Amino acid sequence: MKSNIEIQRIEKSKIDAVDFDNLPFGSVYSDHMLECDFINGEWQTPVIKPYAPISLDPAAKIFHYGQSIFEGMKAYKDNAGNTLLFRPIDNCKRLNKSAERLVIPQIPEAVFMEGLKRLLEIDSKWIPTNEGSSLYIRPFIFATGIGLHASPADDYKFVICTAPSGAYFAGKVKVLIEEKYARAANGGVGFAKAGGNYAAQFYPTQLAIEKGYNQIIWTDDNSHEYIEEAGAMNIFIRINDTLITSPTSDRILDGITRKSIIQIAKDMDIDIEVRKISVSEVIAAAQSGSLKEMFGTGTAAVISPIAAFGYKNTDYDLPTIATSFATTLKKAITDIQTNKAEDPYGWRVLI
Ligand SMILES: *Cc1c(COP(=O)(O)O)cnc(C)c1O
Repeated sequence: MKSNIEIQRIEKSKIDAVDFDNLPFGSVYSDHMLECDFINGEWQTPVIKPYAPISLDPAAKIFHYGQSIFEGMKAYKDNAGNTLLFRPIDNCKRLNKSAERLVIPQIPEAVFMEGLKRLLEIDSKWIPTNEGSSLYIRPFIFATGIGLHASPADDYKFVICTAPSGAYFAGKVKVLIEEKYARAANGGVGFAKAGGNYAAQFYPTQLAIEKGYNQIIWTDDNSHEYIEEAGAMNIFIRINDTLITSPTSDRILDGITRKSIIQIAKDMDIDIEVRKISVSEVIAAAQSGSLKEMFGTGTAAVISPIAAFGYKNTDYDLPTIATSFATTLKKAITDIQTNKAEDPYGWRVLI
């Protein structure tokens, strides 16, 4: 591994053109990006340079065989102007877990962390300070090496780009419990953040949207009897005062928000169960009135409450709850993330 970071600064910042009060999610990009190439069997010197298109050979394997993995994380500014990350080493470890599964070389933790820190220092002004907003960070690695034979590429590129983003309001989310399609299978790549997983979700999601839903609740590929994830988020279901989430597996992504919420809920004395949860259990709970809440967890929206779900041509509305776990837990985790509350876990990392 080559050390140091080469820095090429932008001539004129684009920041004056950005309306920080009206930021969409992930569609405005900051001045700089980090690039690091894997060539001749080693990672080269990382370069921080102006955000710009990447030029690739048409035979690059990313186009043909989809070797591509990514991460999603956020940087926040606290009231004192400090830059904070949330469990960033976990993102690096998970990127390397995805890398192993896709036969992509491991990114050294030092390249990931030092590169990220340096990039955030240089684009520090791009970290929004408005309530609920953050700098969304997208690290990714893909195959640049060429060849039309179906085998792993020789060369890769690691990139980090960032996007200042406003609070993510999904609105009232209506979801459809999937009975035919699956996002993942045993022995597959569902646990990895591999680009292809998302491409494969688009078609069934489009069908659900055409039926009037916003997202899909994924069920297990084998029986479609067990609830697994909500779109590209992990899922939590509250029956009476018990919060339930599926265990991670080959098919379920090990979300950092998910495991943080499990920990926080335990410490708030919320009764939490990590176990398989069947569709029939959820339907029975909805019918008896014991189903109180369903919500998704993920870095982008943090917690996204579900207002209604559909299953076998019947729609079920969730009640409006005065003291919702979703609201309480969202406040607890975002207060830790943004330094408004103590962090007994050591999750917050000051840059
Ligand atoms: C990224 C992702 C999540 C959420 O993970 P976080 O680490 O909480 O952001 C959940 N499910 C899928 C399929 C994902 O891609």
